[in-house]
Amino acid sequence: MNLDFTPEENAFRDEVRAFIRDNYPKDLMNMGTREDLTREQFLAWHKILGKKGWSAVAWPKKYGGTGWTSTQRYIWSEENARVDALMPLPFGVSMVGPVIYTFGNEEQKAKHLPGILSGDVWWAQGYSEPGAGSDLASLKTTAVRDGDHYVINGQKTWTTLAQHADWGFFLCRTDPSAKSQEGISFILVDMKTPGIEVRPIKLIDGTHEVNETWLTDVRVPVENLVGKENEGWTYAKFLLAHERSGIAGVARSKRGIERLRDIASSETIDGTPLILNGDFSRKISQLEIDLTALEFTELRTLASEAAGKGPGPESSILKIKGTEIQQRLTELTLEAVGNYGAPYARGMDGHGVNDFGVGPDYSNFAADTYFNMRKTSIYGGSNEIQRNIITKMILGL
Ligand SMILES: Cc1cc2nc3c(=O)[nH]c(=O)nc-3n(C[C@H](O)[C@H](O)[C@H](O)COP(=O)(O)OP(=O)(O)OC[C@H]3O[C@@H](n4cnc5c(N)ncnc54)[C@H](O)[C@@H]3O)c2cc1C
Repeated sequence: MNLDFTPEENAFRDEVRAFIRDNYPKDLMNMGTREDLTREQFLAWHKILGKKGWSAVAWPKKYGGTGWTSTQRYIWSEENARVDALMPLPFGVSMVGPVIYTFGNEEQKAKHLPGILSGDVWWAQGYSEPGAGSDLASLKTTAVRDGDHYVINGQKTWTTLAQHADWGFFLCRTDPSAKSQEGISFILVDMKTPGIEVRPIKLIDGTHEVNETWLTDVRVPVENLVGKENEGWTYAKFLLAHERSGIAGVARSKRGIERLRDIASSETIDGTPLILNGDFSRKISQLEIDLTALEFTELRTLASEAAGKGPGPESSILKIKGTEIQQRLTELTLEAVGNYGAPYARGMDGHGVNDFGVGPDYSNFAADTYFNMRKTSIYGGSNEIQRNIITKMILGL
């Protein structure tokens, strides 16, 4: 296997690096944290990329994708990770977009794809419910046909950043008498429709990243149904495979390890840099080895996607290993900053709590990030569920 980049690929790297350097918003560069940003901040880079035609790098060219090879896409994610770029959110570009261009009708493609590409329309994912997370097919939200509308009632939960959403894609039960996976439909909902209420859920790090979404007699035109009624489970699973393969985050973890090395070079134990501590440097090396193994697995997956195969059950491997590495990275970062990680706790107002970090800048968000990243082994389908998928679909047990 030849792992060297070709001269054309190196030229491509130069081109995208220069584009990022000249166009990425300076105020968003290398931000220590990315929660509680404004809608405008979240969308700033997406909109610039939309104008350039680079917002949906994995889409087919005919729908507005770049037509880049898997290696070019890999280089693209590496170059963005170098500046910690705030990439287009996954809900439009990686989730509902591919569902619409694969299963939607021409009107739906014409209506929705441009806004996803340009970053003008923000999407939210309405899958999970209080009693239906891992066992998603037991969802209870109903969509009942009434003339040329569906009337939707139910409660979704963990809807990420729905406080900013213009549109949502919802899984609803359209045939309560069918077996659980067979009576579900995939419906696009304008979040301004009367009857939708988005209520915040605060996470352990104090951020408002997720919500409860309540739907009461929400009337949605039938033309918002994607594909066929009662066949939404097929589209839902297709979307989940796309969601999971994007979660691996290899390039960003590589950048995180570089940052961890810098921190461990600055922090000392009894006057000796932490990086020279055998136990600590062994932990970093083990993380790097695991990340390299994941990188090769991701490259293999990208290559098979380039050969025409969509992301399949192997995306579960990427999800498990990628999120485990992201979590270990935050654990080691917190370990490296030591006591400096403890005093600052965003969202914990009141007496005795600092409203600024007391240590070096890099320590300010170490605890927040550590806590926040616990989510990664839960969302996108928990890692236990991914192991079940591997057991069944890959090992055939
Ligand atoms: C930060 C965050 C953002 C999210 N964003 C969204 C979003 O935007 N839209 C959306 O629809 N959902 C979202 N989710 C929901 C997410 O997909 C679910 O939390 C996830 O699928 C797990 O479901 P649950 O929370 O109901 O846990 P449960 O399904 O109740 O699981 C509880 C525990 O039991 C384990 N478990 C359950 N069943 C099995 C089994 N069969 N075998 C082995 N172990 C099992 C699970 O692994 C888990 O550890 C988000 C979640 C988080 C944490």
